[in-house]
Amino acid sequence: MNKHGFTLLTEQHLHEVDGTARLWRHEATGAQLLSINNSDENKCFGVNFRTPPADSTGVAHILEHSVLCGSDKYPVKEPFVELMKGSLQTFLNAFTFPDKTCYPIASCNLRDFYNLIDVYIDAVFHPRIDEDIFRQEGWHVEAETPDGPWSYKGVVYNEMKGVYSSPDSVLAEQSQQALFPDTLYSLDSGGNPENIPDLTYEAFYDFHSRYYHPSNARFFFWGDDPEDERLRLTAAALEGYTARPVNSDVPLQPRLETPRQIEVAYAASKGEKRALFTVNWLLGERGDVHQALLMEMLEHILEGLPGSPLRKALIASGLGEDTTGCGLETDLRQMYYSTGLKGVAPRDVQQAELLIFDTLAQLAEEGIPRSAVEAAVNSVEFAYRENNSGRFPRGLSAMVQSLTTWLYDGDPLAPLAWEAPLNALKARIVAGEPVFEQAIKDWFLNNEHRATVVLLPDTKLGKAREDAEKARVDAVQAAAGAEARARMVEETTRLMEAQSAPDSPEALATIPALGIEDLPRENALLPRAVAELPETFLTHELPTQGIAYATLLLPLANVPDRLVPLLPLFARSLTETGTAKRDFTELGALMAAKTGGLGAETLVGLVRGSRKTFGYLGVSGKAVYDKLPDLFALTREILLEPLTDADVLRERLGQMLLEGKARLEHGLQSAGHAAVSARLRARFNGASAIAERTSGLSYLESVRGLLERMDTDPQSVLNDLEELRSRIIARPGAVMDCTAEAQGLALVETEARQLLRSLSPARAGAATDFGNAPLELPKGEAFIAPAQINYVGKAANIYDQGYVYHGSASVILRSLRMGYLWERVRVRGGAYGAFCNLDRLGGTLVCASYRDPNVDDTLAAFDGMAEYLRTFSPDKAQLTQAIVGAVGDLDSYLLPDAKGAQSLSRWLTDDTDAARALMREEILSTTEKHFREFAEVLAEVARNGSTCVLGGPKTEAAAKEHGWSSTKLV
Ligand SMILES: [Zn+2]
Repeated sequence: MNKHGFTLLTEQHLHEVDGTARLWRHEATGAQLLSINNSDENKCFGVNFRTPPADSTGVAHILEHSVLCGSDKYPVKEPFVELMKGSLQTFLNAFTFPDKTCYPIASCNLRDFYNLIDVYIDAVFHPRIDEDIFRQEGWHVEAETPDGPWSYKGVVYNEMKGVYSSPDSVLAEQSQQALFPDTLYSLDSGGNPENIPDLTYEAFYDFHSRYYHPSNARFFFWGDDPEDERLRLTAAALEGYTARPVNSDVPLQPRLETPRQIEVAYAASKGEKRALFTVNWLLGERGDVHQALLMEMLEHILEGLPGSPLRKALIASGLGEDTTGCGLETDLRQMYYSTGLKGVAPRDVQQAELLIFDTLAQLAEEGIPRSAVEAAVNSVEFAYRENNSGRFPRGLSAMVQSLTTWLYDGDPLAPLAWEAPLNALKARIVAGEPVFEQAIKDWFLNNEHRATVVLLPDTKLGKAREDAEKARVDAVQAAAGAEARARMVEETTRLMEAQSAPDSPEALATIPALGIEDLPRENALLPRAVAELPETFLTHELPTQGIAYATLLLPLANVPDRLVPLLPLFARSLTETGTAKRDFTELGALMAAKTGGLGAETLVGLVRGSRKTFGYLGVSGKAVYDKLPDLFALTREILLEPLTDADVLRERLGQMLLEGKARLEHGLQSAGHAAVSARLRARFNGASAIAERTSGLSYLESVRGLLERMDTDPQSVLNDLEELRSRIIARPGAVMDCTAEAQGLALVETEARQLLRSLSPARAGAATDFGNAPLELPKGEAFIAPAQINYVGKAANIYDQGYVYHGSASVILRSLRMGYLWERVRVRGGAYGAFCNLDRLGGTLVCASYRDPNVDDTLAAFDGMAEYLRTFSPDKAQLTQAIVGAVGDLDSYLLPDAKGAQSLSRWLTDDTDAARALMREEILSTTEKHFREFAEVLAEVARNGSTCVLGGPKTEAAAKEHGWSSTKLV
């Protein structure tokens, strides 16, 4: 069959994707196009190239950024940003992998979908990529005056400095590189900051010419849009191109005969003595889907659960704080496995490494417990069946999967057609074949192609890097004569001018846009029914494909303030310490064998129109319908039959706290913008204060304190947890929530009645003022971390200033985020990003930047928003764009379980359909006048807002200068 110049190569009905897949080949160029036709309204498109780097200058990554900075048909500075401003996209981004670059988009609106595709296709094949774009996105010397000081700047340069500040990221990168010494996987496609300034514009331009050619392209479509149009529009885009040989093959790494040992230093703060390490094994080719599936299960067996043997052995050894390593990696041509420990003393690394091998040897010899195998098989199968890609569209998840074989000229459908290999593997397991024991022998114990990577702390490295960077740019300056210096200043000025010059209205008009008339006038409503059991029973009837999602909510109304920081540990302890009936290993295996997951967490928020906090412990589980009795039996067991053995509890809780501390330290530093925002919010209402105290910067303090208590007075911690139990686990005020099809809802109702009846009719203690007090914090705060970058935040409560919520705020803040802040803080400031958000329910307005080289400049940019709005007069097109974008946020696409969760959240916060309908009306009727009025609100934030900054030397300096309180983070 031939259509629009495409020849059909293969056609297959795939019930795993609920549709038909066709692989087409474009005759003129050889481009391939995988077309998946199913009923998913969340339509996906991607264009992908093999982009093997030849060095670590980050050329592939810089190009990924740069092609989205204007093209022939769309000659604006950043079409990507223009699309973000005013599209109904459900996904719009780009990714650089070690060997490929992907440009994916998704939308539920057909017109929008075609608009996005058109801009993306033109961007990759006809980008402007002039020298200024290269300098802005890659790197350049910023020379404001001939005499300096000069410095290196650039979006990717700065982004990668952030990545290299994180020991975990460095370890992950080094672990991969160590296994592939002879191939391109030994390079950093993202760019090593030390190598990025070696990249020339010529090499960058050449990389595009070489690899961004249709003959090296793989197109992907998914969803309910017509296939004929997919072929037609792609063919139209490829007109004029002819086939060209592109050598972009990804070679196989030859197997090594002897294990490698690699030691690398990481930048640590003063007094830091902890090392991190991984052991890494090269496995077989990703194209072997049978092996890939088997290794996926083996990964679950070894480390999937807290009680899994390898994870348990590493944690129980006390040699480190938490496990590390990515586990099974399947994105490259050859798979690998990576595991290890962080927070380990350098002298203990060898012992920990031996422990890994001993544990594996023991498993291979004595056999893997049946329960662990059942848990792994069910967990992997459940994940495939549920296919829950969260906010990431299902189609794009399928694309990323198919590329793992397709990119190496294998069958793109092989990774998607999981059912047959799964059944084959299950048959081998049932027949008693020791498949996992054999795999441990073949791929771990007798596999000499492995590498141990140790990251050692170096407290002088951060400073040394900064000095080296400075020396390098100083040398550039010193070597430049008067003429060259003048030219550098001129280039810097020209770039800055280009960055601040707005796009012309004619250029902007080229970007295809939706009009107000393309938007649904009304909100899509989420289903919810409320019944009494007699406790409240919320149901959301949705097509969940035979899976029920159930949450039991238990009020935290009786929790006293001093026990708040123990809530996360209490929640985790329910499923991770074991019960009176079984230890945590057996419990974990049973949960994994019978359910799709069971866990607890605190749910805290504000009720709309008040400053009242609601708080619950949410115990959530999911299971296929015929396993619902098991799910509820397990829920009953963890709630009502706690483990009482104090010795076991002490040991296990200590391990969990240590793990928790390591994760928190890493999380707070890598998502500093979230930490800073949470810290700022905590001062304005009690619900945010609880969130900060159970997951933010003050929680880290609490965890450190708890660890000390576990040493000095462990019984007191156990007593506190017991008190929490008696004050939380009881029937009064309990709410049951469930998302499923009608049949599943009925089954859950029966189970829920029984479960609720088994809970105590009275709750211990009296009601406290739970969650109604904000935190009292200094007006300016700084948290110092061993980082080269900063996270800068400023916030105020605008309802306290007298502002009354109006939907236009969503439009205005979105417009500031995508316009003014993007340009000032990202494009000109060199930060990776910046945002400003309003908590509609509570009134807190937060601005924050991430991976930011600046502190004061960014605060000035936040304060400048008011002045900007005073003189900003959006034309009709800009206004429409901002409104469409804001409506897109309202209508974001959700999978059924997320719809149910969202509906529950709206019920808890009293965010009624009427209130949301009003908000939509207000958004749709936003005018220029609203922008002007909001300027005064922001002026007040600038005057009276609070500041919080997390970061390195610049943060420390700013804290001194402004008199902020200053805390060392690590
Ligand atoms: Zn990037």
